[in-house]
Amino acid sequence: MKVYNTLTKRKEEFIPLEEGRVKMYVCGPTVYNLIHIGNARPMIVFDTVRRYMEHKGYEVNFVSNFTDVDDKIIKKAIEEGVSADEISKRYIEECKKDMKAMNVKPATKHPLATEEICGMLEMIEALIRKGYAYAVEDGTVYFRTKRFKEYGKLSHKNLEDLQAGHREIKVSGETKEDEFDFVLWKPKKEGEPYWDSPWCKGRPGWHIECSVMSKKYLGEQIDIHAGGEDLIFPHHENEIAQSEAANGKEFAKYWMHNGFLNIDNKKMSKSAGNFFTVRDIGEKYDLQILRFFMLSAHYRSPLNFSGELMEAAKNSLERIITAANNCRHLMKSAVDGTVTETEKQLLREAEKYTEQFDEAMDDDFNTADAVTAVFELVKFMNTNISAENSKAFLQALLDELIMLTDILGIVVDKKEEVLDEEIENLIAERQAARKEKNFKRADEIRDMLLSKGIILEDTREGVKWRRA
Ligand code: AMP
Ligand code: ZN
Repeated sequence: MKVYNTLTKRKEEFIPLEEGRVKMYVCGPTVYNLIHIGNARPMIVFDTVRRYMEHKGYEVNFVSNFTDVDDKIIKKAIEEGVSADEISKRYIEECKKDMKAMNVKPATKHPLATEEICGMLEMIEALIRKGYAYAVEDGTVYFRTKRFKEYGKLSHKNLEDLQAGHREIKVSGETKEDEFDFVLWKPKKEGEPYWDSPWCKGRPGWHIECSVMSKKYLGEQIDIHAGGEDLIFPHHENEIAQSEAANGKEFAKYWMHNGFLNIDNKKMSKSAGNFFTVRDIGEKYDLQILRFFMLSAHYRSPLNFSGELMEAAKNSLERIITAANNCRHLMKSAVDGTVTETEKQLLREAEKYTEQFDEAMDDDFNTADAVTAVFELVKFMNTNISAENSKAFLQALLDELIMLTDILGIVVDKKEEVLDEEIENLIAERQAARKEKNFKRADEIRDMLLSKGIILEDTREGVKWRRA
């Protein structure tokens, strides 16, 4: 299995630190709002990496944080007149709902920055002791960037070049020794959340959070550290500097970064109005389609989002689901007998699609080519299955399709699955029936939905539904 490593700018053979195990850390979102479809990309991409590794037999310890203390969270809390804690808790819950709807597996551990302050104080103290950090008069602690000789190795930036470009920039009142020094700890401002520390009452800088959470839950050395490409510099560069200076060991072996998601070929931006939350998309589409859309491109390529592309993804996904449904339908009346010689031959032939799939995924998780392999299997199924086939043969093909789509996190075996739209329509019909005092019909609809695992709740804000 080959992985493109941002650190070496090469595809490298994946060799875990410990046989059979993978330690992986993915930088999670800052929780001050509903997540947008850009944030969804690393979630979907690295969940797929994890699934493929698990499929290969690795035990994956997957850690992904929530940044729950940050200027944006504090700003939002002030705007709403509530605590920062209330904002972050609310949006963590909302984020988890979106993740579930996109079939992103919960991480082995989702640490929260605010619950790991103790570890941050320890790492900052260690950095000061080793001469890699210093506190200034107001209690701010900075990392002494130039002291870390390998600074710039991930982003392939040279400090001298950066310095030439930066010479003019001076922030007034800043007391750091050097313009490249970055904050590890900063004093609180009025109304902000804070913690006690040896330097001042304050809060951690963003970069130290990930260095500490990664160390606590995965150890000083990990296999994969990942996130969107905007995090390469300075976030990941700074994480490397902190962790390697504090621990005296290489931090992560492989650094993986997803490309950016654009909308209508433009950078996604709230102010320009081309901005979608995952929730926005979920109102129009099953979020499996968003997942499938994301995986139709290579994770390192920029990806353009548009209505047409989502429609195309919807149709493509439907083709796969239809093939699975056809197969299941034929199985209902198929003979029980054993697989015939001809069928055996066909099954051997069908194995090549799994090989093709694995080959694509082994090549730096090329999900675009892996999806092509799934389509070829679908085509093969559509041409080779009929009412004459044995149940075992149909089952074997269906199993192959499910195995491959499962790795991509796409569910095709939702037999009696009712779509959100169908549910909404039935709820509307039930409301109308109730208005006309046709309670029999209203109850009928409730029972029908219940039999499909949909529970209705009449609340003050109207009818709400959930899947059992
Ligand atoms: P943030 O909440 O901004 O720290 O972002 C959380 C994750 O989403 C990081 O890994 C970012 O790199 C990633 N991300 C943010 N915007 C985009 C985008 N437009 N396309 C792809 N990834 C993104
Ligand atoms: Zn991070």
